[in-house]
Amino acid sequence: MIPVTSFAGKKVAVFGLGGSGLVSASALLAGGADVIGWDDNEETTAKATSAGIPTADLRQIDWSKVSALVLAPGVPLTHPAPHWTVGLARAAAVEVIGDIELFCRERYRHAPNAPFVAITGTNGKSTTTALTAHLLASAGYDVQVGGNIGTAILSLEPAAPGRVHVIEVSSYQVDLAPSLDPSVGILINISEDHLDRHGTLAHYVEVKERLVAGVQDGGTAIVGVDDNWCQAAADRIERAGKRVVRVSVRRPLADGIYVEAGRIIRAEGGTGTEVALLGGIGSLRGVHNAQNAACASGAALAHDLTIEQIQNGLRSFPGLAHRMEEVGRTGRVLFVNDSKATNADSSAQALACFSDIYWIAGGKPKSGGLSTLTGFFPRIRKAYLIGEAAAGFAAELEGQVPHVVAGTLDRAVALAARDAEAADAAEPVVLLSPACASFDQYRNFEVRGDAFRQLVLALPGLTQSHR
Ligand code: ADP
Repeated sequence: MIPVTSFAGKKVAVFGLGGSGLVSASALLAGGADVIGWDDNEETTAKATSAGIPTADLRQIDWSKVSALVLAPGVPLTHPAPHWTVGLARAAAVEVIGDIELFCRERYRHAPNAPFVAITGTNGKSTTTALTAHLLASAGYDVQVGGNIGTAILSLEPAAPGRVHVIEVSSYQVDLAPSLDPSVGILINISEDHLDRHGTLAHYVEVKERLVAGVQDGGTAIVGVDDNWCQAAADRIERAGKRVVRVSVRRPLADGIYVEAGRIIRAEGGTGTEVALLGGIGSLRGVHNAQNAACASGAALAHDLTIEQIQNGLRSFPGLAHRMEEVGRTGRVLFVNDSKATNADSSAQALACFSDIYWIAGGKPKSGGLSTLTGFFPRIRKAYLIGEAAAGFAAELEGQVPHVVAGTLDRAVALAARDAEAADAAEPVVLLSPACASFDQYRNFEVRGDAFRQLVLALPGLTQSHR
């Protein structure tokens, strides 16, 4: 735990006491703050009270005595509407911040030169975070990894010289961290997503850009420039005097890092040097993962890792569960869990990676259906449809892709395994990449992916992949 000392002796309101909010309250208490916690959910508030967090209804307190409102990242700051606590704080001119901001202030006070890699983007945040942490850890760094990826930042060890914090930061968290100043900032990409929380694309881009624009003096901003928004952001940040490393998986760059024919290349003044090969690394299949790997390699180079260390680290990356996770094989058949693909765009990334696919799809449908996936239909040998989306998907595939309404995941796995094993392709792939949310049949995508993994592991003759 990182005691938050910057509010010692001051009154701090903490709203949202599930998960990271509870950690923030404890960290503030440990640093000597006078904490008042609250949550709209009575049970959550009661749990926090019994865990030793002082609580009071924030509608009833004297806001003129409060130094800051610390919001949990899930609580709306701006869109669709500011949470009621935000209104009360603003009326009393109280700053509204989050746990990443508390970390930044601690680091600034106690270890301003401690390396701090902050990572954001619309897609690939968790993969790039885990991979960057893995590269640095395998090269011998003392690495602390957390943030939006799962472990609340304040439950990590404090910033210290020689210790690297690798932190995934969502847009919501950037919005709550006005002094975010990483030594290495990574903005992977921007696409139109999450607009419900940020209103306009312009605001969404501005928030994401802040993570790299805030890179501390002497630091590095790594920006994927394959979309127009990030391209423009890179130019603006560079004009403002920051060191920018551009990353592309679409075209060679004269300066920066690019990927061409499965090779990561670092270019300086028009001369390219090979950094690593991506071929044969199962956990980093696909152009999207090449983008993540190139960004992570940029962070590794900024920490002076050697080319050998980067290549070895990429090769030994186990990957993240539920994202193109290789579960195992029966003979030539490979089973892949991509349960995290809850929309068609994510499934496109997976479908692009294989050529003989036995595709398990469906769940709670999203708008747009499969219309963006028609280009991949020739790769799909057969589709096994589950959940609420099954009938709609069947209608969309009709006449183009052989399919069956399997209904449930257990039937889909059994049917797909049987068909794939009978196929004569070199590497038939049974791929769970649902292009749908899971909520009709499962609590979340993790539970759905776990169920798939268990079903696959129970297949006769299965050899498990090593993660
Ligand atoms: P995030 O943390 O941003 O949600 P993840 O690393 O968890 O991203 O990846 C989630 C899904 O997003 C992956 O399964 C894949 O389909 C897609 N994805 C991952 N990286 C990228 C990328 N660089 N560009 C586009 N899509 C990506």
